[in-house]
Amino acid sequence: MIRVGINGYGTIGKRVADAVAAQPDMTVAGVAKTSPNFEATQARKRGFDLYTAVEDRADQFPAAGIETAGPVDDLIADSDVVVDATPSGVGAENRSRYAAHDTPAIYQGGEDASVADVSFNARANFEAAADADHVRVVSCNTTGLSRLLAPLREQYGIEKVRATLVRRGGDPGQTDRGPINDILPDPITIPSHHGPDVNTIFPDLDIDTLGMKVPATLMHMHSINVTLERDPDAADVRDVLAGQSRIMLLGEDLGIDGTGPLKEYAQDMGRPRGDLWENCLWGESVTMDGRDFYCFQAIHQESDVVPENVDAVRAIAGDADAAESIATTNDALGI
Ligand code: NAD
Repeated sequence: MIRVGINGYGTIGKRVADAVAAQPDMTVAGVAKTSPNFEATQARKRGFDLYTAVEDRADQFPAAGIETAGPVDDLIADSDVVVDATPSGVGAENRSRYAAHDTPAIYQGGEDASVADVSFNARANFEAAADADHVRVVSCNTTGLSRLLAPLREQYGIEKVRATLVRRGGDPGQTDRGPINDILPDPITIPSHHGPDVNTIFPDLDIDTLGMKVPATLMHMHSINVTLERDPDAADVRDVLAGQSRIMLLGEDLGIDGTGPLKEYAQDMGRPRGDLWENCLWGESVTMDGRDFYCFQAIHQESDVVPENVDAVRAIAGDADAAESIATTNDALGI
């Protein structure tokens, strides 16, 4: 069993912990939190050992009646791999801690790519993480783009990608985020950081991205144009995309016309927390005009990187190849 510690137990960390616990070949060594709150209580209810991330706040846990297992360094020492799911920038600060314990670490997309030896997407470059000590799972948007672009590149070749990312203002739990009533070019300059981030996965890809932020919390929406090197018909491309395990091709029959019904669908399917681990791509939007491919896809920012973190653990541990790992992760989660 691969012992996985999770440092940072918020939106991403708690989901990664549950996903790790569901795997047949992994166990949660423990989770680390800075302060007691409802998530700390839930971590204990799930049976996870809870470690304290900040020494001067360690006393707050017993004061709140929450049992702890020790400082985060004990967790790092006791783990085969640590998933760092702390806020952007904190992962880079934690890097030396993981190195001091000689424990390989996985960082999230909020960190600069330079934090890690390799940026990771299971579908696109699983093997690149073999033997790496520091691996960064790319952001939710870059994950969504990489999953779509990998098969298009393999099947048809890509000349140029143009993507407009309409991004949620914040996650549902982020009461301090916005905009509340505006539509923001974000950033105003072009390209947004997403294109260069995709280049950490596909270094030679020609890609321009534009970013916007809107008053929504549910999901991101991508409007995509890819000029391919060949000119397949739309039905052919749809079949290729339907064959991707982490792309959910939405059929017209579902009557899902936006991210609201999509999240409702996830809840009706019994998905934990209403999570959508896959890219949600509208089959009807798949259009070919000569060599130009178009589509809309929605990305659930809180959960699409979760299976990628699980695969990154296996890639580092060297216990499986990409296909085996993706299949095991998908099976355990119910993708
Ligand atoms: P979050 O704020 O929901 O959770 C982070 C958790 O880490 C919080 O519980 C916080 O208290 C804790 N923390 C803060 N300092 C810490 C420290 N020094 N040690 C241990 N824990 C600490 O953030 P999140 O949304 O889960 O994001 C985590 C990372 O994942 C970021 O890099 C982010 O960019 C990336 N990410 C977030 C999303 C998203 O939409 N939420 C999607 C993809 C990637």
